[in-house]
Amino acid sequence: MSDLIETLQNIVDDAGFIDSEDLAGHSAGLRDDRPLKARALIRPKTTEQVSAVLRACNQAGQAVITVGGMTGLVDGHRSGDSDIVMSMQRMNTISEVDTKTRTLEVEAGAILQNVQEKAAQAGLMFALDLGARASCTIGGNIATNAGGVRVLRYGMMRDLLLGVEAVLADGRIISSMFKVLKNNTGYDLRQLFVGSEGTLGVVTRAVLRLHEAPQSIETALLAIPCWQSVMSLLRRFDAALTGRLIAFEVLWQNYYALNTGAYSDVDAPLSDSAGFYVLLDVNISNGDSDKEQLESILMQSLNDGLAVNGILASSESERHKFWQIREIFEPEQRKFGLVYGYDISLPIEAMPEYVDTVSRNLKAKFADAELFSYGHIGDGNLHFTVAPGAARDHSAIDEIVYQPLRNLNGSISAEHGVGIEKKKYLNFTRSQAEIDLMRQLKNMMDPNNILNPGKIFDV
Ligand SMILES: Cc1cc2nc3c(=O)[nH]c(=O)nc-3n(C[C@H](O)[C@H](O)[C@H](O)COP(=O)(O)OP(=O)(O)OC[C@H]3O[C@@H](n4cnc5c(N)ncnc54)[C@H](O)[C@@H]3O)c2cc1C
Repeated sequence: MSDLIETLQNIVDDAGFIDSEDLAGHSAGLRDDRPLKARALIRPKTTEQVSAVLRACNQAGQAVITVGGMTGLVDGHRSGDSDIVMSMQRMNTISEVDTKTRTLEVEAGAILQNVQEKAAQAGLMFALDLGARASCTIGGNIATNAGGVRVLRYGMMRDLLLGVEAVLADGRIISSMFKVLKNNTGYDLRQLFVGSEGTLGVVTRAVLRLHEAPQSIETALLAIPCWQSVMSLLRRFDAALTGRLIAFEVLWQNYYALNTGAYSDVDAPLSDSAGFYVLLDVNISNGDSDKEQLESILMQSLNDGLAVNGILASSESERHKFWQIREIFEPEQRKFGLVYGYDISLPIEAMPEYVDTVSRNLKAKFADAELFSYGHIGDGNLHFTVAPGAARDHSAIDEIVYQPLRNLNGSISAEHGVGIEKKKYLNFTRSQAEIDLMRQLKNMMDPNNILNPGKIFDV
C-alpha cells in the first residue's frame, strides 16, 4: 500500500475507506451498470476529514473526484482507475428547521427528498425539485446548480442557497454559513462553488432558504393545438395567478405518446392527438377561491381554443400519474435501449423553429433516428431524448443539436452542467475571454489541478 493510501485510510474510519480491490458492488452511477473505477473510495464523516484528505492529496498531486448521488447527466462524476473518489453520502445530517429565519442547515450528502420532507414537517417548503430527488444530494445540486421543475417561481439552486461551507484543494475550510438573504460584503464567494462541478472546492455544508408551503398544489394537464397557444397560455396563467404558477412543463406530441403508449405503464389521461401537452402546477393558498380561479382560467382557455382538452388532477395519486408522464424514462429504454439526452436553453419563441431544424437535420443524416422534445419551457429550458438509430454516432448528433444554438443566443447546458460530455462545446456558449477567466480562477484555487480534473474544460 502506498504512503498516500495509508494516510487516507488513517484519516477516516474503517467504513470510510474502501480499497480499489473491494469496489465490486459499487457502480459508476445511478442507472449505470459499469463498476466504479478508483484507486480508493473515501467516505468522510466530517469537514475536518475532507480537509485532511484534500491536504494529503494536494501534496501528492493526487486527483480527487467528489461524488454525491451520482445522478449527474454529463459525466461530471466520472472517475478513472488512478483517481481517489470521495463520496459525500455519509455526511448527510439535516438540522432542525429554523422557522424564524426559514432556513435549514444540511451536510452536503443529504438527499434532496429527505431535505424536502424535513422542511415539510415544519410547514415550510424547500422548493428545489427534480426527477432524481430520491438519490441526488444537496452538494451535487449545488455543484451542478440544479434547476428542475419549479425554477419558474423559485429559481435555481443558487437562488435557494444562503450559506455554504467548502474545502479548497489545499485543505483550507471556507465557511460562509450565513442565514441572511442580503450580504453585500465583497465578492460572493458562496456562488463560486455553485455550478463549479467539483472543480473549485468540495462543498461540505449549506444553509438552504425555505419558503412558505402552499396549502396544496393543483396539477392540470392540457392538450394544446399549436406553439402560439403554448406561449399565450404561459402568459395567461402567469399573469392571472400572480406568482402561484410554479411549474409549466411542455411535452411534444411524440414524447407524450411514447410515455403513455405501448411501452409505458402509465395510461393516457387525454388522447395523444394534440401537437403539445402542458403540465402545470399551481400553489393553492386560499382554499376554494384559488381553485375556482384556476378552474375559471382553464375553462376560458378551452372556450377560446387555446387548449383543445384539459383535465385537473382530482387526487394526489392522479397528480403523481400526470407527473410520471413527464418524468418516466422506462418507455424510451424499453423501446430503444440506448438514447442520448440533451438539456439546452434558448428563447421560447425560437423553440419550434429550432426543434424543426434539429429534427430535419437529424433525419437527413440518420433516417432511422428519432427526436423527442419536452422540458421546463416556462424557463426556456428544452430537453431532447434522441434515439440515435443504428449508426449510434453520438458526436454527429451533438453537432446537429448544438450548432444551431450559436445563432440563437442559446446555451448548450441549461441546468445539467458541462462535465465531460459537453466540454467540447463550451465555446458555443462562452466566449474565449470567459473561458480564460474560468481557467485563471481554477489555476488560482487549485494550482495542482487535483479537483475533478478534465471536467468543464482542460486547464
Ligand atoms: C432522473 C433524473 C432527473 C434529473 N432531473 C434534473 C432536473 O430536472 N434538473 C436538473 O438540474 N438536473 C436534473 N438531473 C441531473 C442533476 O444534475 C443531478 O440529479 C443532481 O443535481 C446531481 O446531484 P448528485 O448528488 O447526484 O451529484 P453527482 O452526480 O454525484 O455529481 C454531479 C457533479 O457534482 C459534483 N459534486 C457532487 N457533490 C459535490 C460536493 N459535495 N462538492 C463539490 N462537488 C460535488 C461532482 O463532482 C459532479 O461534477 C436529473 C438526473 C436524473 C437521473
